[in-house]
Amino acid sequence: MIEKSQIVEVLEDYDMDDLAIATLASHTALHILKGAQEEGFKSIAVCVKGREVPYQRLRVVDEIIFVDHFAEMNNPEIQELLRERNALVVPHGSFVAYVGLDKIENEFMVPMIGNRRILRWESERDKERQLLEKAGIRMPKKIMDPRDIDRPVIVKFPGARGGRGYFITDSPEGFNQKVEAMIKRGWLSEEDVVNAHIEEYIAGTNFCLQYFYSPIFDEVELMGMDRRFESNIDGLTRIPAKDQIETNMEPSYVVTGNIQVAARESLLEQVYAMGDALKRAAEELVPPGLIGPFCIQTMCTENLEFVAFEISARMDGGTNVFMNGSPYSYLRWLEPMSSGRRLAREVKMALEKDEIEKLIT
Ligand code: ADP
Repeated sequence: MIEKSQIVEVLEDYDMDDLAIATLASHTALHILKGAQEEGFKSIAVCVKGREVPYQRLRVVDEIIFVDHFAEMNNPEIQELLRERNALVVPHGSFVAYVGLDKIENEFMVPMIGNRRILRWESERDKERQLLEKAGIRMPKKIMDPRDIDRPVIVKFPGARGGRGYFITDSPEGFNQKVEAMIKRGWLSEEDVVNAHIEEYIAGTNFCLQYFYSPIFDEVELMGMDRRFESNIDGLTRIPAKDQIETNMEPSYVVTGNIQVAARESLLEQVYAMGDALKRAAEELVPPGLIGPFCIQTMCTENLEFVAFEISARMDGGTNVFMNGSPYSYLRWLEPMSSGRRLAREVKMALEKDEIEKLIT
């Protein structure tokens, strides 16, 4: 595990008057890079050849470092290029997926904004559950054995498959039937079935709550809220029940985009309480805890209670709906404030106070 002291050493060779903010050109890179520019930093994208068009055309990059594959961001020569440019790297979902947790934890010797150790906690379901339980945030009930299914459940499978092959059932028989059908189609292997994760299906409305913890102000800010566009479930639910049954289509939950939402104002107290609680739990379980952007993905029930089914302990994809700031971040900052810009602002404030080490691991 790369220790913070090693990263602080790297930082000692940096020219603090000429810092750059860098990220992998994917996921939420647009507002991370633009935010860096807006706050006066050089923006650097590590980009797969052929994928540079949006970054160039939207004028968000000052420099592009080209690679053949995303995973090459971890190559020693790319790391060296980043260090030479005094780059602070912003982790996001694609960075974690392509570089991989082991390499981020043990090989990627470039200062990162955020807590590098906490990335594993959002990726592994049991650790994620531990964090949420510690925070006292309600989660869907987990069912350990398919034979115990006694209510509507959603069945999830391991690996980053983007919700493909997830299904809903409400009995052990239903579980067996669906699993068999999916194995026949080649969507699942026997091994996947053993590792199936079964949890209570929460028929609520989806709110993905985007937060930012500022170590400089010691405050959790609400940055915005989105809900997911998911295919094919969004299409499936647009046809009448009769046709759903006739067509016998299987639902999947592949995220294809995000939509802005605003919560009922009376829910906001709960929203802040959850953000604060997760921040405290993370501090205890994975010190120094959450640094900068994070997200709690929830369903809000008809009793107006949030149930969390997932978290992101880094920039979440949903922040893309607020590249010009959200209603909430506007109230807080009175200027357009995306999560990317907020991160760069935090770096700027940390530099002024000589506290940059608070943000880096
Ligand atoms: P992945 O991590 O593979 O993307 P998620 O856990 O985010 O999977 O689930 C994918 C989608 O399935 C969610 O965005 C949500 O729409 C739905 N979902 C997940 N868990 C539940 C649940 N317990 N109740 C209702 N819907 C859920």
